[in-house]
Amino acid sequence: MSVVLDRTPLLVAVALLAACARREDGRTRDAEPATAPPPLPAADGIDAAVASPSRAADERAIERERLVSSLAAKGIRDPRVLAALRTVPRHAFVPEANRGQAYLDRPLSIGHGQTISQPYIVAFMSEAARIEATDRCLEIGTGSGYQAAVLAELCAETYTIEYLPEVAAQGEKNLRSQGYGAARVALRVGDGYLGWPERAPFQVILVTAAPERVPAPLLAQLAVGGRLIIPVGQQRTGQDLERWLRVAPGSEPSAFRTERLLAVRFVPFLGEGH
Ligand code: SAH
Repeated sequence: MSVVLDRTPLLVAVALLAACARREDGRTRDAEPATAPPPLPAADGIDAAVASPSRAADERAIERERLVSSLAAKGIRDPRVLAALRTVPRHAFVPEANRGQAYLDRPLSIGHGQTISQPYIVAFMSEAARIEATDRCLEIGTGSGYQAAVLAELCAETYTIEYLPEVAAQGEKNLRSQGYGAARVALRVGDGYLGWPERAPFQVILVTAAPERVPAPLLAQLAVGGRLIIPVGQQRTGQDLERWLRVAPGSEPSAFRTERLLAVRFVPFLGEGH
């Protein structure tokens, strides 16, 4: 996701400055939500993660808990979504260089011009999809694998498609190393425009890159009662996050109800098919 793709370094810098300010005066600023954790205690110049892996893991769990509290304060209510974000270690899905910022509510670069979405957006989309534990879920745009891991915590079956092979390899590595095996998250390299017809229909489809129009094959693969959450529009002019609810079989417009949920800015949809 690239809500602040161009401005990410600046925003990260601002967030870091805010964290430094907190460090100095020990207080949280009103203007900046408490998403920035306190620094890890690094004794004698030794990296805390090296000195004590379990203590480092605990520290990250505390940071994660703070992030989840801040998302709840921003309006995320679904307890299953909040629990999923509490469970999945976001820091394991971001490149090492960005790990320190993993629990800020910011998108981060994952290389190849792509980003891991802002946690609020991951939570918002997961909540908007109204996922039930029996649902079969499809994600378009694996990226880091983080959203797929969150889906794996919420869905009975999770499928994810990534267009760029190098990104897919990294996303798959992240997922597998965190215990999300192929039975929990099935991954395919390809054009998500086409969906995953062999596994359709899906109760939930989340799209994490923005096409200019909703791909017809994704609508066709949505179960009756199913929800498609998708950013639509150009990156330049801004996009709307939309929810498409299938209320009847078939492809006529009357088979769907559409709502605009949020103004967003995602990375553009790649591939030939749109
Ligand atoms: N969900 C990801 C966000 C990744 S950014 C995460 O949690 O990290 C969006 C991703 O969508 C990028 O990796 C991009 O390569 C991928 N993408 C763009 N167009 C696509 C398409 N047509 N099919 C599949 N993936 C696509």
